Amino acid sequence: MKIAKIEVFALRVPPKDGNVEVEWGMDCSLVKITTDNGIVGWGETDSNPAIIKTIFDMPTSHYLSYSLKDLLIGENPLDIERLWNKMYLKTLHYGRSGVGIHAISAVDIALWDIAGKYYNVPVYQLLGGKYRDKIKTYGTFIPYEDLDKTVETAKRSLIDGGFDTLKFGGTPFGLEEKYDIESVRRLREALGEDVGLAVDVSKLWPDYGTALSRMKKLEQYNLAWVEEPCLATDYESYRRLASQVKTKISGGEALTTVREFNDFMRIARPAIVQPDVTNCGGITEMKRINMLAELNSCKLIPHNYGSGVLLSATMHCLASFQHGDTMEYSNSLSPFFRDLDRNLVRSVNGYVTVPDRPGLGVDIDEDVIKEYSFTWE
Ligand code: MG
Repeated sequence: MKIAKIEVFALRVPPKDGNVEVEWGMDCSLVKITTDNGIVGWGETDSNPAIIKTIFDMPTSHYLSYSLKDLLIGENPLDIERLWNKMYLKTLHYGRSGVGIHAISAVDIALWDIAGKYYNVPVYQLLGGKYRDKIKTYGTFIPYEDLDKTVETAKRSLIDGGFDTLKFGGTPFGLEEKYDIESVRRLREALGEDVGLAVDVSKLWPDYGTALSRMKKLEQYNLAWVEEPCLATDYESYRRLASQVKTKISGGEALTTVREFNDFMRIARPAIVQPDVTNCGGITEMKRINMLAELNSCKLIPHNYGSGVLLSATMHCLASFQHGDTMEYSNSLSPFFRDLDRNLVRSVNGYVTVPDRPGLGVDIDEDVIKEYSFTWE
């Protein structure tokens, strides 16, 4: 079996009011790999779609600066780890971290999907089998400037997904002290003490002093964790904060490869580590990062706010990890989350049921791809 064709789709929900930015989850890069015997594998990365498409389509420059299509066409898609290492080495000049690894992540996920379909087993079986049929979910939502609306969204999300823990974050959270404290106070008051509540700072607190003072003020609200209170690579500030506050600290969604996670876990000492399978290097790298998390006694709860491809890849990983008992579940209204995968797994009463279909188990609606594909000059 050989890789015959690779298609990369740059997707974007058209921004409102001519604003050049799109909301989180409103753009997406999908990779479709087709083999010479007709098996199709799907992969995703949450990165800038224009750069990702270029990494596949550009002409190769030299032996450490390859286009991914040149590296992969004609290869055996079942040689997943060999191809991972080949891609890493042959893109080293421009890759190593960031978008280079984002693109590799999408390929890697598609190759696991192909392997599952080829062997006619779910991906979790190829990862060593599953520890659990269901995974507990917590709900994530983006807050509003209007706190009444934020509280209303939290209550509705809690009811819809049956969650016992909610996390909120993204602007306006993280910008002003008044909003940060008041939003948590209002939500804690509305949800009661029995609901787990976490916040995601998304690296918006500008310095260590701000992070320390804000976390001290939030301690009284008994947060389940505070996510990314510092810049992603400021490992020393993470470590200092962890020694000064009682609340658990999490991070890692922006990091790539086991090399960065090794430094992060050893130096920053987070309680919770949150790799994103579509960015960290794919399923192959997530498996390595999970082993590192076990060695460093970190709880691994992957970042999971994208399309149904990300959701499925995350589920198969967690099902096969010894301590993979908690999964983020997005409350995104993005069509890439809601409509792209016809088999999208819902959170029911706070749990997702791991699918037994071969491969990732996704069924991609190519009409959604057509509707949101975009081009640029
Ligand atoms: Mg986050």
